[in-house]
Amino acid sequence: MNQKIGFIGLGQMGRPMCRRLLAAGFDLVLHDLDPEVAAPLLAQGAAWAGTPAEVARACRVVITCLPTPQAVEEVVLGPTGLRAGWQPGDLYIDMSTNAPSLIRRLAQEAAQIGVGVLDAPVSGGTVGAEAGTLTIMVGGEAAWLDKVRSLLEPLAARIFHMGEVGCGNVAKLVNNLVGLACNSISAEGMVLGVKAGLDPQILYELMTVSTADNWSLRQYPRTVFKRNFAPGFKINLAHKDLTLALALGREHGVPLAVAEAVKADLEAAIAAGLGEQGVDAVILPREARTGVVVGGPTQEHQPKGVATWS
Ligand code: NAD
Repeated sequence: MNQKIGFIGLGQMGRPMCRRLLAAGFDLVLHDLDPEVAAPLLAQGAAWAGTPAEVARACRVVITCLPTPQAVEEVVLGPTGLRAGWQPGDLYIDMSTNAPSLIRRLAQEAAQIGVGVLDAPVSGGTVGAEAGTLTIMVGGEAAWLDKVRSLLEPLAARIFHMGEVGCGNVAKLVNNLVGLACNSISAEGMVLGVKAGLDPQILYELMTVSTADNWSLRQYPRTVFKRNFAPGFKINLAHKDLTLALALGREHGVPLAVAEAVKADLEAAIAAGLGEQGVDAVILPREARTGVVVGGPTQEHQPKGVATWS
């Protein structure tokens, strides 16, 4: 297989993923709406293409890592999209968190010209992308996955084949539905505990060895305790994921009452101007409402003048 790989979508996730692929020896051809984000990767030897179609002409395998289904559809089917440059035998891998229905439709379009499609969304955040320890959940033909395992391996600690095309995103939406519920309820619990007189650091230590333990809570030493709400995973993207999960629930007649509450929670954070902050920032409106700061490492060691959102 030609080792020249196309990569479109150089955001919080795409950039570190590209750094790892370059380090693993792949030749990359890059594209993004914003050419400036590519500069450090071009300095490391990657090439630039002006449109997705040019990327597809240059590479037999193209990866996208884009924010929304609308962006994916534009990049694949738009007038200068991948489809305009595809050749029979090419493979397209979408690593965005996407609607299963869209990736299935794109796979049907691609099949008409003999192009294979895998959906391969990821979990593990920007930290996992930097370290190459993402979890990748793949939908599509096992034979295609086998052909590109060596491409995905520098990015991932675990690769799961979930079933036919679209199943990668079903898995990802279920994962994020559960993960984002943990994110909101962890913020709620921590604010309640601190307001009712507990030390946040001791509460954190207790819960991470008790039944409340979860991935979002374990980010607190890096995020909430340090008052670091830079993305990471933006609240706007988390809201997109919840919206897609709720649509999947409606499609299959599955009621998702908790997910509805989490979506409303994210909408409250977006209304407070926090959409482009990391998802841990859902704690900020709660802190502002209750007058507490879930700082660390302990209340008495907390620096004076810790920023509170208002
Ligand atoms: P981001 O918003 O940081 O980056 C998206 C990039 O795509 C930007 O550089 C933007 O300019 C580019 N883009 C948008 N529309 C485009 C178009 N039409 N053509 C070309 N480029 C376009 O997003 P991110 O955080 O990197 O997330 C990417 C995907 O990965 C999303 O689907 C997200 O849900 C998913 N994801 C993110 C995380 C995370 O922690 N950030 C974790 C797992 C999965």
